[in-house]
Amino acid sequence: MATQQSTSPQNSPVTVVGLGPMGLALAEALLKQGHPLTVWNRTPQKADNLVSRGGQRPATVAEAVSASPVTIVCLNDYDTLYKVLAPAADALRGRALVNLNSGTPREAHAAAAWAAERGIDYLDGAIMVPPPAVGNPESVFLYSGSQAIAEQHRVTLASMGDLRFLGADPSLAVLYNTALLGLMYSTMNGFLHATALVASAGVPAATFAELAVNWFMPTVVDSTLVEQAPNLDKANYPGEFGTMEMNLNALAHITRTCVEQGVDARQPALMKKLAESAIEQGYSGKNYFAVFEVFKKEAQSA
Ligand code: NAP
Repeated sequence: MATQQSTSPQNSPVTVVGLGPMGLALAEALLKQGHPLTVWNRTPQKADNLVSRGGQRPATVAEAVSASPVTIVCLNDYDTLYKVLAPAADALRGRALVNLNSGTPREAHAAAAWAAERGIDYLDGAIMVPPPAVGNPESVFLYSGSQAIAEQHRVTLASMGDLRFLGADPSLAVLYNTALLGLMYSTMNGFLHATALVASAGVPAATFAELAVNWFMPTVVDSTLVEQAPNLDKANYPGEFGTMEMNLNALAHITRTCVEQGVDARQPALMKKLAESAIEQGYSGKNYFAVFEVFKKEAQSA
């Protein structure tokens, strides 16, 4: 039986376009929270289960977006968004469009312009959790663009996770998303490389992991990253507790140890190159955080 629609914020109607693994998880969370749900997907059968529990599945995407004040899109990329929503552009005029596709900052700006040209209110977003974590109030969802949409549809968006509005620039959500994914991959690689190094002496990963994580959080995250982060904006890198030269020696030492132990040395060798660049740029007496200046310059010249 179809769920009755109401305008109260607790169960405001919502349309979800795109029912891949992530779109399905979003639709499930919204249905579970009592939102009258309308869905559209290229492969309509993926909505069978949602429809059996009250979700609506009109034949066209234009009918789907017309059913709700807000449409959440979760497709594989931005190009697909244009293709899928083109026949619904008129129906979307004056309604809110929340785009949760992954993409680049330029793609987010282009999508915001596409929506503005058609009189569609646009909010960009990025999902920071895998599908099984959608609907958990602690699961982070990043948003940027129209603050009015974020406020007006706060209850609907909060049904999927923890809403974090980053600012009016629509590209901020995907930019943060990319930065955080980069942090995730470099941290995972750091852990995997360190584990491979001790594994060369027969140490089981679980034995090393316990010590590594308990050392890493207070010593690296709390005492170094959290404490030093404000200095990055001021380009303040005092070297009294350890200079770039000292860190270069440490990285050379890690590289040599990898070679001795028969472990791939490319990762420490790359970090050694970054420290050498910092020294070439005049930061030899500064602390390791001056590598930030190397990254910023590379970004400008890319
Ligand atoms: P996906 O494979 O990236 O996207 C699947 C969706 O795109 C389906 O609805 C699919 O329709 C549709 N689609 C693909 N090509 C199409 C086309 N040419 N025309 C019309 N529809 C098309 O799977 P996903 O995991 O659901 O991801 C969706 C978005 O969420 C992506 O941008 C992804 O980066 C982001 N995300 C995913 C995760 C995750 O862990 N899965 C986590 C964070 C963010 P059909 O069903 O008909 O094929």
